[in-house]
Amino acid sequence: MPAIRDRLAADQSQLVQTLRLTPHDARLEIQLLMAAALDVNRAWLLAHDDEMLAPPVAARYTSWLKRRLTGEPIAYIFGEKEFYGLMFKVSPSVLIPRPETELLVELALARIPMDRPCRVLDLGTGSGIIAITLAKLRPLAELVAVDVSPVALELAQANARNLKANNVLFIESDWFSALSSVEKFDVIVSNPPYIRADDPHLARGDLRFEPPIALAAGASGRDALAWIIDQAVSRITSTGTLLLEHGYDQGEYARAALRQAGFHECVTYHDLAGVERVTLGTVG
Ligand code: GLN
Repeated sequence: MPAIRDRLAADQSQLVQTLRLTPHDARLEIQLLMAAALDVNRAWLLAHDDEMLAPPVAARYTSWLKRRLTGEPIAYIFGEKEFYGLMFKVSPSVLIPRPETELLVELALARIPMDRPCRVLDLGTGSGIIAITLAKLRPLAELVAVDVSPVALELAQANARNLKANNVLFIESDWFSALSSVEKFDVIVSNPPYIRADDPHLARGDLRFEPPIALAAGASGRDALAWIIDQAVSRITSTGTLLLEHGYDQGEYARAALRQAGFHECVTYHDLAGVERVTLGTVG
């Protein structure tokens, strides 16, 4: 029976070699896999790494490690991922929540009042992270979350139930198609697909396992952004705001497209990595 620490060291270098992770990332991932297999937290793991690994735990850990070594993202192996302090179920039918999307949530929160109702639309909700987080933090807001994928919507609804977000209505819809054309929203948010179809990143790392429909948007990567900007202007109240996540090199495009569609005060915000990540525009 090997000691935990021996497995950790050997498997860390295997992850570095196979997936070309940095030693730091590989170490973190191995610890996460081992801690989950033992059903303990990382602090416990590090304090007890001289203990022996019992066969059933070793078997569970080994099966997860094998999956990880094929490149499968940790979030899909565990079936969950934290976002904005909440734990969401995820599956290969939805994008894995990313920290940069927290910027979109923060900017939206600043525009949704605490003390009165506000109608908010989340386009392409996926696992529901944006709509559900906003709903939890703004209980008086009325959220509508749409997605074209019924499987994604089922998962988003399960997340809303688990997290007790009761103020979100989920609708199967290809962007605005299933919404009434007279229905208006105070805030519209979206993290749409925005990667160019021929971007080599789609064939690397976690992205290989994620749904292409949630990542890629035509030859320019702008198809979904353009469509949303064009359609949103007539769906927003006279003082409303549209907030869009986009690629690091799409801020200028997003501002120009918003202005052309009739939005004002078009501003782009940088994420923690310092790149242009969210652009918003207001009407009125
Ligand atoms: N930010 C993601 C990435 O570049 C893409 C997410 C998206 O297309 N909405 O990996």
